[in-house]
Amino acid sequence: MLVTGAAGFIGFHVVRRLLGRGHAVHGVDALVGAADPALQRHRWQQLCREPGFRGYELDLADADAVHKLIQDGTPARIVHLAARVGVRESVREPEPYLEGNLRGFLHLLEACAKHPPEHLVYASSSSVYGETGRRASHEGDRADAPVSFYAATKRANELMAHAWSSLYGIPVSGLRFFTVYGPWGRPEMAVYRFVRAIERGEEITLYDGGRMRRDFTYIDDVVDAVLGVLEQPPVGATPARVLNVGGGRPVQVLELVRAAEAATGKTAKIRLQPGPAGDVVHTEADAGALRALLGRGPATPVEEGLARFVAWYRDYHGEAAELTPRRSLRRQSGK
Ligand code: NAD
Repeated sequence: MLVTGAAGFIGFHVVRRLLGRGHAVHGVDALVGAADPALQRHRWQQLCREPGFRGYELDLADADAVHKLIQDGTPARIVHLAARVGVRESVREPEPYLEGNLRGFLHLLEACAKHPPEHLVYASSSSVYGETGRRASHEGDRADAPVSFYAATKRANELMAHAWSSLYGIPVSGLRFFTVYGPWGRPEMAVYRFVRAIERGEEITLYDGGRMRRDFTYIDDVVDAVLGVLEQPPVGATPARVLNVGGGRPVQVLELVRAAEAATGKTAKIRLQPGPAGDVVHTEADAGALRALLGRGPATPVEEGLARFVAWYRDYHGEAAELTPRRSLRRQSGK
């Protein structure tokens, strides 16, 4: 089993669940692009201490390293989560997105063509849908009008995966994640930012009056989906599919702040700003296909997910809510 992006938020949780089930896991990460490099390194160090885990610090943009990795290990199943992830950052500085998201994925697909896995599950994103109006996105909807380079790379990944599946018969599943949050999450994302600001008594800036809606998806539900799909490779002449991974319950950003106030027991200081470019105003998953495949889908209510996040946040950052952790990494999230 190979997991790329293992030091990342989702990768870390996927690897831990796999190790918990007794799998031996090879993890790859270049340890780049993190808003909080210390948190990223803590995830990686935690995994590297696990007996069933073998970590490779390498860049997928390095073709030789990727080929050697796949050739030496020939993993039966691959979960590809490594990517440059910032939507607005991809507009400001697109080059690393070209290298990591496009060239990196190309190298992985080429290695898979030579040493085909039973199943390659890779991360796509709800951003491939672009502006949808205020309705649920379905996998059959058009996805040809991205509004950031990040979104364009994710859509390109889907098309590349389809081509390599068609050419070499590689079973591939692309998962369109909808705004994932939870313990060990990304500090630049809304849930983390809001809870941190409330805990520290700092101001929260809300764009577009806090009217943006996101289908916030709890990390444990995402791991369930990744591993559930991994066990069921697609079949057919071109064994390729894409699936939404989201609960279909969009929450206004302002409502999220209110829920974060409830979870922390503190009041937020809010400042309103006009909407920034490069991000969509509404995301909502139609998760019917995922539910049909797995018999279940993301279901954790945002209040419950936030409560778990706040418990982790306080434990990890200590009472002073500093970004440098003061306590040990012993306590972890999870169901
Ligand atoms: P993350 O930034 O925490 O993790 C991504 C990891 O990939 C990082 O540790 C980074 O070092 C690694 N990486 C980047 N470029 C690399 C390269 N060239 N070679 C090797 N490693 C590299 O992000 P995440 O939130 O865990 O996201 C995981 C995947 O899910 C990404 O592909 C992302 O685009 C996708 N996704 C995430 C969300 C979300 O809400 N978190 C939503 C939609 C899609």
